[in-house]
Amino acid sequence: MRDPFGRTITYLRISVTDRCNLRCRYCMPDECAELLPRERLLSYEEITDVARAAADLGFNKVRLTGGEPLVRSGIVDLVKMLSGIGGIDDLSMTTNGVLLEAYAAPLAEAGLGRVNISLDTVNPERYRELTFGGDLSRVLAGIRAAMQVGFNPIKLNCVVEKSSDETDAREVAAYALREGLEVRFIRNMNLEQGEFWVVQGGIGGNCELCNRLRLSSDGLVRPCLFSDVGFSVRELGARQAIIRAIDAKPESGEQCRTTTFRRIGG
Ligand code: SAM
Ligand code: SF4
Repeated sequence: MRDPFGRTITYLRISVTDRCNLRCRYCMPDECAELLPRERLLSYEEITDVARAAADLGFNKVRLTGGEPLVRSGIVDLVKMLSGIGGIDDLSMTTNGVLLEAYAAPLAEAGLGRVNISLDTVNPERYRELTFGGDLSRVLAGIRAAMQVGFNPIKLNCVVEKSSDETDAREVAAYALREGLEVRFIRNMNLEQGEFWVVQGGIGGNCELCNRLRLSSDGLVRPCLFSDVGFSVRELGARQAIIRAIDAKPESGEQCRTTTFRRIGG
C-alpha cells in the first residue's frame, strides 16, 4: 500500500515487550520502573493477527524487537507462528544478544532468517558501564552462536554519540571486520526533542525512503518513530489500524513525547 507521499509501505517492526535485561544509558535512563501491566501487552495470537493483516496488505518484511525480545517467554513459538504467514519472506529480530547463545538454534529452526545484534563497545568494562551491568562475554557468545546456525547477514547495531570515529565505534568496526559481520552506526537519537539522523550503513532515519510501520508492545500501530500518532489494534481491528497508520504517515519525522524506544521498538 502507498502512503500519501507515494512511499510503498512493506515493513512492520513489532515490539514484543517493553521489558529488558539491560539498561542502556540512552534507552532506559531513569524511567525503568514504568513497565506496562501485562494485560496491556499484545498476546502472540494478537501479534500474529496483525502480521497476517499486514501481509494481506502487501507487507513482506517483519522484524521483532523490544525491549528485549528474548526475555519474553515463548518467543520461539511466536517466531514459528509468524514464519508460517504467506507473503512474509524476511523475518528478523533485533536483540542485545545476551540470551542468544541458547536461543540461536531454536530461533533458526522456527524460521527466523536473520538477526541484528546491538553492540556499542567490545571493551568489557565499557560494556558494563553503558548497559548498567551487562556481561559482554555473553553477547560475544551469542554472536558466535548466530554465526554457527547460519543467520545471514548478521548486522551489528552500534549507537554512537556523534560519529563512527569514536574509540568504541572504531573497535566495534575492527571486530566486525575480523568476524565478517556488517555494522551500522546509529547516532544517539532523542525522541522528545525530535533529534534523529540517517543510520550510517542502513536506511533508518531517511524519511524519503521510509517503508515502515511499527507495532508497539501495547498494540498501537504507529506511522513513525518520531510522531505521537498511533492506532489501536484492539479498538480498530488490525487491518483498519494498519490502513489508518499508512494514511497518517508524515512526510518526515517530528518528535514523540508519548512513548519510549523500548515500548515502540527501536
Ligand atoms: N533490546 C534490543 C536491542 O538492544 O537490540 C532491541 C530493542 S532496542 C530499543 C533496538 C535498537 O534501538 C538498539 O540497536 C538500540 O541500540 C537502539 N536505540 C535505543 N535507544 C536509542 C537511542 N536513544 N538512539 C539511537 N538508538 C537507540
Ligand atoms: Fe534494552 Fe535494547 Fe534498550 Fe538496551 S537498547 S536497554 S538492550 S531495549
